[in-house]
Amino acid sequence: MPKMPRATADNTAATAVTGRAADALSPAQKALEKLGLKRDIDLALHLPLRYEDETRIVKLDEVREGQQAQIEAVVTHQEVTFRPRRQLIVTVHDGSDTCTLRFFSFYGSQQKALAVGNRIRVRGEVKGGFLGRTMLHPSFKAAGGNLPTALTPIYPTVAGLPQPYLRKAVLAGLARSDLSDTFAPGDLEVLHKGIGHQPLWTLRDALSFLHHPTPDVSLDTLMDHSHPAWQRLKAEELLAQQISQLQSRRERAALRAPTLQAVVGGTLHTRLLAALPFGLTQAQQRVGAEIAKDMARTIPMHRLLQGDVGAGKTVVAALAAAICMDAGWQCALMAPTEILAEQHFRKLLGWLEPLGITTAWLTGTQKTKERRAMLALIESGEAQLVVGTHAIIQDKVKFKNLALAIIDEQHRFGVAQRLALRNKLHHEEMEPHLLMMTATPIPRTLAMSYYADLDVATLDELPPGRTPIVTKVVSDHRRDEVIERIRGQIAQGRQVYWVCPLIEESEALDLTNATQTHADLAEALQGATRADGQPVLIGLLHSRMHADDKKAVMGAFTAGLMSVLVSTTVIEVGVDVPNASLMVIEHAERFGLSQLHQLRGRVGRGAAASACVLLYSTGDAPRLGEAARERLKAMAETNDGFEIARRDLEIRGPGEFLGARQSGEAMLRFADLATDTALLEWARAEAPMLLDRYPHLAQKHVARWLGGKAEYLKA
Ligand code: ADP
Ligand code: MG
Repeated sequence: MPKMPRATADNTAATAVTGRAADALSPAQKALEKLGLKRDIDLALHLPLRYEDETRIVKLDEVREGQQAQIEAVVTHQEVTFRPRRQLIVTVHDGSDTCTLRFFSFYGSQQKALAVGNRIRVRGEVKGGFLGRTMLHPSFKAAGGNLPTALTPIYPTVAGLPQPYLRKAVLAGLARSDLSDTFAPGDLEVLHKGIGHQPLWTLRDALSFLHHPTPDVSLDTLMDHSHPAWQRLKAEELLAQQISQLQSRRERAALRAPTLQAVVGGTLHTRLLAALPFGLTQAQQRVGAEIAKDMARTIPMHRLLQGDVGAGKTVVAALAAAICMDAGWQCALMAPTEILAEQHFRKLLGWLEPLGITTAWLTGTQKTKERRAMLALIESGEAQLVVGTHAIIQDKVKFKNLALAIIDEQHRFGVAQRLALRNKLHHEEMEPHLLMMTATPIPRTLAMSYYADLDVATLDELPPGRTPIVTKVVSDHRRDEVIERIRGQIAQGRQVYWVCPLIEESEALDLTNATQTHADLAEALQGATRADGQPVLIGLLHSRMHADDKKAVMGAFTAGLMSVLVSTTVIEVGVDVPNASLMVIEHAERFGLSQLHQLRGRVGRGAAASACVLLYSTGDAPRLGEAARERLKAMAETNDGFEIARRDLEIRGPGEFLGARQSGEAMLRFADLATDTALLEWARAEAPMLLDRYPHLAQKHVARWLGGKAEYLKA
């Protein structure tokens, strides 16, 4: 492909377009495909990043430094110099002032076009400076000719796809697209009333305008997407997403699941409830009832149980499992790490074994013999409850009659893993009920959009008697004070977590880091004593350790034998040691907000006052970066997981918040879930109406907006 002359895009526009459009396999067309612009409608929906104003000619003496300007002027001087490097220097005068144009790469034809005496139209950013006004590599053409009446769009593009070519392609796509309304008659008015925008914009008007806005528009409203034309587009996009989610929800409703009717009186469920050392909170009761109701239905439950760290999700899961077992079916609980799975296993064993339940345990690191025994228990149905890691979804694991699958910390699992668990019921076209749990609360707007296919239950109340955790942000220079604090906790018989950061590039470095910290801490804490006279033990836990060793360390910490646990982030999820009262997070500036909140949630689980120390280091920099400061500030200001999630969403944006795995291709392009709440509410109400009353319109709408991508939204 011939290179675009860098001096000017305008001069070559015509050849770029006509020359390549004729060629069937042109690089530009390949580039279009690469951008996902295959259909006319894809082109029509490819919206500008920004605009340039070519509608006006201004005078040089009115132009402020740094401004984009278009002038018409006469060339008064031209020369090629070689110092400091080869460049073409052209001076122009427009009657009000002069300006120097500089080009570091140029063709002879351009030099000719810029001959002294020629009148030219020049556009570019005007810089001031010692030698007067200059423009670096401006675009130019002969003066005269019509001025465009609309702003010039600048599109997102890739290498090999010049703006003029893309502009023509978009314009053609826009002209050929069927942009007839897909909203139900009358519903547009509802939308516009809802968001307070007049007059009504049709899709065609909105798109035509956004591609070629008139110069009188406020650029701010285009850039922040608040312009009515943008509102119309965002409403369309959100509606497509909502319809697609609703469709997958309805597809699920056509599936069957075992009906797990809660059995009243003298049952496992009742006995478990009676045996618990505490009463359920209101929230736990409410959520438990919602889950019970779901499981009594003939369609598979698809429920997300979200609750802040320490809200008491495990017992809710255990009670759901009890209902399942009461009805004569098997239940599986899958957790993302061995430590967490093990902890669930012990807890459930403690609650259920006395009630006569056999529980199986499955993990990847299990000895073959033990594993065989477990597989047999599961296949025969003797084990009514199975707890484990990913090992549960392996092919070899055959359930007799799995009816309830529970996934803890569900955000740690991928779509494929969730599906694999759902496929573990080999029974007449049935699927088990699915209960997913997470301590990373999903902000409402996300729950309404990406998780619209899920029923969400929320534990919005912590068990009683918890004292709020006090969070302190402390510079690494004050490490000694932190050590003193640890001594104090140890003396009182309390326990302490010390978390080392994950070093992304290298697991090995990670390990050295944690090992070193462990050694340093052991030395710094020499002479510390415990009130009960027991020796002060300081443990180390990291991901490279053998499973048995991890188990031993975690066991010693849980039993209270160990005072301090130095750890990499392996303890992040779910670990429950109520006697732990101090959490120190080293290099807290490197952690994400949700992760910090999860880690902090490891303390404050008992009645004792707990604290979290966020140790930060600025390294060689004078101060922390903006985002890191925001995160630490948010942590110090609130303990509320929902508020943390909201701020996390704000700091990171929904794409990163959801993680690439969950968002994939499905990310919204135009709407912003953090701010477009009103539109989202509208789309949520509109989707079922459209789907029910005008299914063909709904279909057309989804096809227009999502093309082949609708599948991504369902996973
Ligand atoms: P998470 O929601 O983070 O998974 P857990 O289920 O681990 O929380 O519960 C945290 C702690 O609170 C556990 O020690 C659990 O036994 C305890 N707990 C749960 N529910 C209650 C309750 N209603 N009253 C008192 N303690 C409770
Ligand atoms: Mg948990």
